[in-house]
Amino acid sequence: MLAKRFDNDSSLPMFEPDAEALPAEELSALQSRRLRGLIDRLLAAGGLQAGRLRDYGVTSGADVGLDDLSRLPTTAKQDLWDNYPFGLLAVPRDRVVAVHGSSGTGGRPTLVAYTKGDIALWSRMCARALAAAGAGPGTIVHNAYGYGLFTGGLGIHQGAIELGATVVPVSGGMTARQVTLIGDLRPEILTCTPSYAIRLGEALADAGLNKEHGLSLKAGVFGAEPWTQEMRSRLNELLGITALDIYGLSEVIGPGVASECIAAADGLHVNEDHFLVETVNPVTGERVPEGTPGELTFTTVTKEALPLLRYRTGDIATLRSDPCPCGRTLVRMSKVMGRKDDMLVIRGVNVYPSEIERVLLGKPSVASDYLVVVDERGAGSDLIACCELAPGSPSDDQLRGALEHDLRETLGLRIAVAIVAPGTLPRTEVGKAVRVRRWSGGDPPVAGLDV
Ligand SMILES: [Zn+2]
Repeated sequence: MLAKRFDNDSSLPMFEPDAEALPAEELSALQSRRLRGLIDRLLAAGGLQAGRLRDYGVTSGADVGLDDLSRLPTTAKQDLWDNYPFGLLAVPRDRVVAVHGSSGTGGRPTLVAYTKGDIALWSRMCARALAAAGAGPGTIVHNAYGYGLFTGGLGIHQGAIELGATVVPVSGGMTARQVTLIGDLRPEILTCTPSYAIRLGEALADAGLNKEHGLSLKAGVFGAEPWTQEMRSRLNELLGITALDIYGLSEVIGPGVASECIAAADGLHVNEDHFLVETVNPVTGERVPEGTPGELTFTTVTKEALPLLRYRTGDIATLRSDPCPCGRTLVRMSKVMGRKDDMLVIRGVNVYPSEIERVLLGKPSVASDYLVVVDERGAGSDLIACCELAPGSPSDDQLRGALEHDLRETLGLRIAVAIVAPGTLPRTEVGKAVRVRRWSGGDPPVAGLDV
């Protein structure tokens, strides 16, 4: 009976069909009501967001309709830093039951507070994501997202329990133990970062577990890093699954803000009954139309401890509202094309690492791990795309030239390619993949770099 859930069947049950398949007018009415409630709560809480609303002439939720949203003030990560750790709380401090956030690698830590209600909401959002991937009561979920301050591990964990699935809280790392557990417990769902899924898939293959033999996995719910359609093909092939994207960030709630359905595997349904989504021009902040890439901006209308009005995420994507075969009426966002912060500006051309990934992984003979080196030794910056040959691929003298040609054609920029020995590039066991390293002098950041 469980196996039947995974036939890319559009009649798969939703976790909350009353919310996920609401007719458009009912959804708008719910969103307006919740937006007005949020404005009233922010004004009552005082502080930064209340002050900004008053500066915009908003003194009551009744002043605001959904159409006014794009004219309201925004919030950003800087506001969380400036008010660290609890300055933006909209509830008394003793109602906070948990904190999560980012550890601050490469920046300052961001902390986000949750009430019991927030945790319950988050669990339901992750339960929706797992159900959209085909999971239901009893489905075994191998959860290899890191547990801790990072929202990935505990978010999926709570969601799996909410759904009534069976969660295996293996967390990240110790890959050999993960292989054993996957062989023994036969999970149908794998949840982790896409880069770790590659790592794990290779280790499973080495252990003789593959889609023809012994591998039970049906779907993967992969997030916390931007990843491409080319990476999806790799993951589907390697693990014999349908690889699905999940999106979230701790400032908004964590994973479960949006997720793909197995029926279409084509865009992430945003849980817009709780998180109003807009895409805005990253420079001017003006809202952009559907289909135009813009910075994802979320308004958390039901969150209690740290509700945010128009939070600018820095993530670039498009939105679309055409019908989905799964029956959800929730708007879909594209895969994240890149983060505003990850954008490299090379000789005046804007480049996201994911654009380089698309070209590299478009060639079957290139392995799935790659690294972009920003060569800053000279006057300007140049890019070197480092990759390895896929296991079993014969060495190919033409490959480097072909990749350089494709990168130039696709990105309009000359990017050198270095094909390094297998096993040279950094692998991810825990946390997010390192895709960019800077080289300003001294030894190259990758052994064998000969450009
Ligand atoms: Zn769908």
